[in-house]
Amino acid sequence: MKAIAITGQGGLEKVQYVDVERPKIGPHEVLIETRAVALNHLDLFVRNNLDSLKLVPPHITGADGAGVVAEVGSEVHTVKIGDRVLINPGLHCSVCEFCQAGEQSLCARFGIMGETCSGTFAEYFKVPQANVHPVPEGFSWEEAAAFPLVFVTAWRMLISKAAIKPGEDMLILGIGGGVATAVLQIVKAIGLRAFVTSSSDDKLQQAQTLGADAGINYTTQDFAREIRTLTNRRGVDVVVDSVGGDSYAKSLATLVKGGRLVTCGATAGPRPQTDLARIFWNQLSVFGSTMGNMREFAEMLNFVRKRGVKPVIDQVFPLADGAKAFARMEAGKQFGKIVLKVSDGA
Ligand SMILES: [Zn+2]
Repeated sequence: MKAIAITGQGGLEKVQYVDVERPKIGPHEVLIETRAVALNHLDLFVRNNLDSLKLVPPHITGADGAGVVAEVGSEVHTVKIGDRVLINPGLHCSVCEFCQAGEQSLCARFGIMGETCSGTFAEYFKVPQANVHPVPEGFSWEEAAAFPLVFVTAWRMLISKAAIKPGEDMLILGIGGGVATAVLQIVKAIGLRAFVTSSSDDKLQQAQTLGADAGINYTTQDFAREIRTLTNRRGVDVVVDSVGGDSYAKSLATLVKGGRLVTCGATAGPRPQTDLARIFWNQLSVFGSTMGNMREFAEMLNFVRKRGVKPVIDQVFPLADGAKAFARMEAGKQFGKIVLKVSDGA
């Protein structure tokens, strides 16, 4: 079968369209004939860290995917051949104390499709049956592939960690990225006021069409000062910062007393300067969050289906052009999700 694989530690030249063997499934696994897959920052991370992740090339990356069930293992009873499905990309052991408590994303052996095992960027991929969910009605294959990882990540941050409430003010850093865009869509559906930052005026404008209440270009404006102005010096209740780096201390400075900051990534660097005096004096809460548990995934799916929230798709490439898709993500040009179309089923 055809696949996009990382053929060694390195740059874009290591993202190649290759022939590999179709995966063989175990008794609790499902084989999916892929229709569409979506890129995440994780795929760049895997490509850049193949050696330290101890992955053997050619390694198929890809966390998100949707398609038709092609084969089921002997112990699979929840799905059948021909079902239209998408996947929860988080992999867990089911037996550790965290899994037993229903906190699968805290699993001692937590993994993600494409990072800790072979991923979705291929004509077929396999997953445990617990990770397979039906595609919501009215969703195209591209939409079904595009939302699971970023929406479950956003959901856990907003609902389980920050516990957002309608009417609150929120700041979202780096709009355009998949998680930031999902966060904006969820908070606008719930009824918060949302401010966003970007280095691109185009992205700020696109965010406003999605409901953002104001956009701040952080290359020409001090976003902490702008937030003070926009909130009559009060500050926002919640910041979602998946950027880190130099923005982090400023993110803390935008919060109201008792405010909450949630982080799920550090695209500008994981060891920023911080401001402990501000954290204790203003009694701020800082939450870390990764992916989501099975309950949150189901809740998020339900929300998306009921509210008709669909992911923003930036661009769709054929699977063979996987390297072009990687280049677009690496350049940070995207607004929303970059998708690879694998097959239309014909
Ligand atoms: Zn576990």
